[in-house]
Amino acid sequence: MHKKLFIPGPTEVSDEILQAMATPMIGHRSSAYAELHQAVETKLKKLLNAERRVFLFSSSSTGVMEGVIRNAVGKKVLNTLNGEFSRRWWEIAKSCGVDTETIEVEPGKAITPEMVDAALAKGGFDALCLTYNETSTGILGPLEETARLVRTKYPDVIIMVDAVSCMAGTPIDFDGWGLDICLAGVQKCFALPPGLTVCAVSERALQRAAAIPHRGYYFDFLDNEKFAAKFNTPATPAISLIYALDRQMDRMFAEGLDNRYARHLAMADHCRTWGRARFGLYGDERYLSPTITHVINPGFDFGALNKELGRRGAQISDGYGPFKGKTFRIGHMGDLTLADVQWLTAQIDDIVK
Ligand SMILES: *Cc1c(COP(=O)(O)O)cnc(C)c1O
Repeated sequence: MHKKLFIPGPTEVSDEILQAMATPMIGHRSSAYAELHQAVETKLKKLLNAERRVFLFSSSSTGVMEGVIRNAVGKKVLNTLNGEFSRRWWEIAKSCGVDTETIEVEPGKAITPEMVDAALAKGGFDALCLTYNETSTGILGPLEETARLVRTKYPDVIIMVDAVSCMAGTPIDFDGWGLDICLAGVQKCFALPPGLTVCAVSERALQRAAAIPHRGYYFDFLDNEKFAAKFNTPATPAISLIYALDRQMDRMFAEGLDNRYARHLAMADHCRTWGRARFGLYGDERYLSPTITHVINPGFDFGALNKELGRRGAQISDGYGPFKGKTFRIGHMGDLTLADVQWLTAQIDDIVK
């Protein structure tokens, strides 16, 4: 039996999208491909309010996180750590050999504009990594406020955002907030199979890339921009996923973006209310994520719970990294509905009596 995915990626994929994946193949240098690419980019620009460019990278998000570091860090990057994915970006920066400093708060807390301000004020930075939705802890950071601060006080700092587990599940106003780079893999709130990452870039980010000599090859922003200007990619793209994304964007606009974001909040609200009453929630209540809920495990056998859930047709996630066995996570993103999460929590109640 198929287990419905209530995990923070990959998420449940609808039959209509699986069908779109089966569209007969076309050559990526054909006009049919350029039309598809242009259509998808136009829809993504509308989703994100990102006028300049949205790249389509055929890679999981981690690859693009690396590409971003190589294209946008000239002097020194500030990595902001509050969980495992923000830590991953720091590991990537170190592995690329760029100069990096960190600020860190304990998992379950958010990095605030004040902390970023205090760190950047020391000087020498030209890039900042922010993890909008820290999937390992279920915390959504104050991105708009942080970006406003950075744009006002540190105009040369490139703002780079990992929005992997919340883009298309919560509003992002790329141009309005003054972001420079914002990326997300499509296997989370977009509810597509994995393998494609979308990445909005500003003119400022492209100019930064132009000043950096060794940007790497596959994710080179300038090379990708040259091809994107013709609605193409330097190497063969994941065409089936781009067909699927085109269909999915239409479904999103048909639902209405506001309705889509409200649906995510309604699912979050249910999971929080349930989790709080039943076991307790993990994390700072002021910054709880709209796409994933992190619940305390009072000591039951998570493996046994998930096994029984699997028998009933669902799957959830254990705590990530140091939280394994201490918490569990419910992903409520993509095409899932309030009825889905209501069903899920009723099953958990029934199993963990
Ligand atoms: C899932 C996730 C990633 C990694 O994505 P991959 O597609 O596995 O490379 C990075 N950052 C965040 C916040 C995530 O949730």
